[in-house]
Amino acid sequence: MVTSMQQILSCQMSDIAYLDYAATTPCDPRVLEAMSPYSCNIFGNPNSMHHFGMVALDAVDAARIKIKTLVNADFEEVVFTSGATEANKIATIRTMKSLTRISGKQHFITLATEHKSVLDCADYLKREGCEVTLLEVGPDGLLDLNRLSSVVNDTTGLLSFCFVNNETGVIQDAKNIVKVCHERGILVHADATQAFGKIPLNVKELDLDFLSASGHKIYGPKGIGILYYKSMHSRLVRTPGANRDVEFGIRSGTVPVPLCVGMGEATEIASSELSQNLTHITALRERLIAGITGQLDEIYINGSSTHNYPGIVNMSFRGCEGEAIMMEAKHIAVSSGSACTSNKLTISHVLAAMQIPADIAQSSIRISIGKFTTEAEIDLAIDELVTATKKLRAISPVWDIIQSGSSVDDVFRRQGFR
Ligand code: PMP
Repeated sequence: MVTSMQQILSCQMSDIAYLDYAATTPCDPRVLEAMSPYSCNIFGNPNSMHHFGMVALDAVDAARIKIKTLVNADFEEVVFTSGATEANKIATIRTMKSLTRISGKQHFITLATEHKSVLDCADYLKREGCEVTLLEVGPDGLLDLNRLSSVVNDTTGLLSFCFVNNETGVIQDAKNIVKVCHERGILVHADATQAFGKIPLNVKELDLDFLSASGHKIYGPKGIGILYYKSMHSRLVRTPGANRDVEFGIRSGTVPVPLCVGMGEATEIASSELSQNLTHITALRERLIAGITGQLDEIYINGSSTHNYPGIVNMSFRGCEGEAIMMEAKHIAVSSGSACTSNKLTISHVLAAMQIPADIAQSSIRISIGKFTTEAEIDLAIDELVTATKKLRAISPVWDIIQSGSSVDDVFRRQGFR
């Protein structure tokens, strides 16, 4: 059994510092250890009525208890899914379809800065005849509650918002979003994929109707997530024709016991180490920002400076393309935009919705810090990013324009680029 995460990381990634924890995290060795008996020795199907089935069911129940405890839900309000994408889909599409059928509500609201998995659901709902509103956010990435109040109407059924934005780390004002919505009888779903196990979350206190989370963002296995739903909404999310004994009729098929055990263990570890991780990650964020801004001008941290999860730093290096920086800084693994959209050379839809000027948005990268990140890795990142930026700025026409005091947008527009 490998006991040190540093050993795992150094075996897998040689001299490259992994700073992409928002994309995925390595499995904590304690999670792997907890999972390992559940494929060979304890292999029963939790739907079976015999001893093997009962032992497997006990393990799934124990994992569910760990998860419901972290978010303060009831036992039957937590359903295992294949990940947050599936949980988002159930919470948005199934809920909207049920609301339309039951009460004629057909208006769905979400934010223009959402993860692609929710934006895809919004597109689908639109094609199915729903009215869909994508709300713009302010330059700090926060939703303006007055703007929200101005778009709701009597047919609005559901609002879905990202608790911690995966590209910027911006934390929305969940409590007041729920308040505005519930005053108008609108249900609320939080995509808490980047929040669960990282910042305190209490579904009862926040009065959330639905919440999604994922195992692989909290040092658990890939291919598992959860949907929390308020028990009073169970009829909205039930699968037609599903066996009601399996995941309370919300999901079909054989429950992946090892993955559930892994998610449960990862959740318990995340819960017990939450404040220690936050302290560690906050210190590293500050070290990173101070190290870079101390050596370079025209660095922007995108997103609210007060409402953010410290593990996600969206930083713009004006005068350089984000992708060019990534190619230069070969000894760090970071991302430009989110992993799901970063193969496209377009401005991040998140930064665009925040009305970040195009040249600043284009020069952004996401550095995400995790519990295994070390000071040495942050120092390596500072060195690599400063060197890359200086090199790229030396040959950048955009940087020359900025240095001359002209507006990049004006020059580009005059030359017909925009
Ligand atoms: N929502 C957000 C905010 C995410 O960051 C991600 C993962 N990139 C997802 C949803 C999808 O999660 P999963 O990989 O578990 O489907």
